[in-house]
Amino acid sequence: MTAIDASFNANEKLPTIFPLIDTHTHFDAPVFDVDREEQIQKAYQRGVRHLVLVGYLHRHFDRLYVTKEFINKQSHAISEFSVSEQAFKQKEKPFNAHIALGLHPFYIDQHTDEHLENMAQMLNDKRPLAIGEIGFDTFTDEMKQPDMVAKQARFFKAQLDMAVSHQLPVMLHIRKAHAEALALLKAHDYDAHELGGIAHSFSGGEQEAKAFVKLGFKLGVTGQVTNPNAKKLRRAIQAAVDTYGIECLVIETDCPDMTPIMCQVSSGNQSALGQSPDDEWGDAPAHNRNVPANLPYVLGSLSELLAVPTETLAEQLWHNSCSALRTDWRYPA
Ligand SMILES: [Zn+2]
Repeated sequence: MTAIDASFNANEKLPTIFPLIDTHTHFDAPVFDVDREEQIQKAYQRGVRHLVLVGYLHRHFDRLYVTKEFINKQSHAISEFSVSEQAFKQKEKPFNAHIALGLHPFYIDQHTDEHLENMAQMLNDKRPLAIGEIGFDTFTDEMKQPDMVAKQARFFKAQLDMAVSHQLPVMLHIRKAHAEALALLKAHDYDAHELGGIAHSFSGGEQEAKAFVKLGFKLGVTGQVTNPNAKKLRRAIQAAVDTYGIECLVIETDCPDMTPIMCQVSSGNQSALGQSPDDEWGDAPAHNRNVPANLPYVLGSLSELLAVPTETLAEQLWHNSCSALRTDWRYPA
């Protein structure tokens, strides 16, 4: 774990700092246990003001709440030395964590009906910010099997039903299954124009990008956009923006995955998701671990790609995130 700080050995100039919302993280993962406190401070210094902890397995739901508590405590430490007087008067915490609860399609073989029932109960008792991540993932051959696809569809629909009954936005995880997901969403009562929602770590093409935005979703942009070779993704984002404006985007780190290219210290930034049953990122190379403090690199690359000034884009992304998550967090002056 000695190489962890290498995630800050970025070989490119850090963009100017603006207030940012990290709309999708797995900052509760054990890979952050060693230095979570330090990473909160770094994220704060880089402008991150809100961070969403996103669920994927029922057995880790409690860990989301423990992490949120921990962040809230750290946030008090931040407020002692650096909050503006205005924020202080408004009793705002400088750094805020929020929770989405959901059963991730990648782990479909591990989810049970009892998990769904328990999640429904937790939605009643705790009312998280959102439901997620949910959706379709047919990345591997095994996951293309009809029984797997059918179970994914059943869990996806059941969680969309919960979103409708609790009036909560959803975080979609769609990988190699955009047509299937779009068909299911079009047939479902969930209306993203009304409830919000994010197509997290969007990875489809131009038509798919526009189709999700047309349905009312924002596209979640990760560190993948920092890679000049991610041509299909960059074209898809550009096409959605050409049609719908920069209002259709939000940014996220999806940490510990999706490390921006300028923060990687070796090639082969493959996601380690799913490598180990109890610590899903346990085998992730520590030197390539993504952290919330890397979010300004996503902003910087997106600003370059779209030729929109960073300052303008940052403020718009803040409002887009609030719109997608149906919140009204004040943009820090
Ligand atoms: Zn995720």
